Amino acid sequence: MTKAGSPPTDSIKPPLWVNAEITYKCPLHCVFCYNPLNYAETFEKELSSAEWIKALRQARELGAVQLGISGGEPLMRDDVEEIVAEASNMGYYVNLLTSGIGLTEKRIAAFKAGGLDQIQLSFQDSTREMNDFLSSTKTFDLKLKVARLIKQYDYPMVLNVVLHRLNIDHIEQILQMAEEMQADHVELANSQYYAWALKNREHLMPSREQLEHAEAVCNQFRARLGNKMKLYFVVPDYYQDRPKACMNGWGTVFLNIAPDGLALPCHEARMLPGLDFPNLRDQDVRSIWYESEAFNAYRGDSWMKEPCRSCDEKDKDFGGCRCQAFMLTGDARNADPVCSKSPHHTLVTDQVALAQQPRLPDNQVRPLIIFRDDRNSRQFT
Ligand code: SF4
Ligand code: SF4
Repeated sequence: MTKAGSPPTDSIKPPLWVNAEITYKCPLHCVFCYNPLNYAETFEKELSSAEWIKALRQARELGAVQLGISGGEPLMRDDVEEIVAEASNMGYYVNLLTSGIGLTEKRIAAFKAGGLDQIQLSFQDSTREMNDFLSSTKTFDLKLKVARLIKQYDYPMVLNVVLHRLNIDHIEQILQMAEEMQADHVELANSQYYAWALKNREHLMPSREQLEHAEAVCNQFRARLGNKMKLYFVVPDYYQDRPKACMNGWGTVFLNIAPDGLALPCHEARMLPGLDFPNLRDQDVRSIWYESEAFNAYRGDSWMKEPCRSCDEKDKDFGGCRCQAFMLTGDARNADPVCSKSPHHTLVTDQVALAQQPRLPDNQVRPLIIFRDDRNSRQFT
């Protein structure tokens, strides 16, 4: 049943892109991780292989074409090969998002045989020291080996580095590393401030000067390398005056499935109060997508408050991100405070002003950082 005021079922387009967060277990402890703070609660409730395959088949039958297999670290499960092969047979374009830990030659050969289309490998930095600090592991050398394996198995090299105050000044070395790895695509997205990154926001937000320098270096590499290495540089939305069109609109193209089977319109939505998110164990994808109250809650514009409701830009950004509106203002129906028209915009600009302060020495910052680990997660539960 659709909620009063939401668009009728026949105006809702099917999901195109499914993100399967098959586990929140991860050997890394990244300070900017976007997994929910209480991720450890899901460990005992993960969907089985058969439940994943059933859910993916239902989404494919609705029209989904792109599948991301992510986590946590998806390779912590030993059935990823089976899930990938089944999904590939269903006709999905399948992308594995991994830290590289656990990607042995045997496994990559199995992925190749099973039809995996793309592997996206994340690094935390170009230096062993900072990579290992930010993930609280010793994994830099292993990641370099995995990068070679990815090339050896004739996959495009898709490299992902989350940028922030602590690594953004290494931008030139990061891009040199990418070039040496013969990366085909490099995604340099600045940290967005959700979950663990929000906890560490004051230590992670770059200054304007840092951002301008990083963007200029990216442009130099772009000019020199052209299409040989495609570069995507995403600034933190706090530095914009209009919000991102989050997920291209709530419940329009993107379906996230959490490890415990919770179906979500975005990675972070679990935090929103007052919404009873449906579970794949209890409901099929079709009824979740078209009929659940949660997926209809922020479709259309009848839920909007001012200034979004009467704004002539609401078809461009849909009022921004519901999770960011809730996290910063306490009401998910408010305009995303990144917007300069929001009455709460100073919540964002105050943080940006703070980020212009001189950077503290590492030995003062590091003890204050909260790492994403199971013990901390259980404390946030
Ligand atoms: S961001 Fe880091 S800690 Fe979080 S899931 Fe990815 S690799 Fe693991
Ligand atoms: S007021 Fe709302 S709809 Fe208008 S630009 Fe800002 S966030 Fe977007």
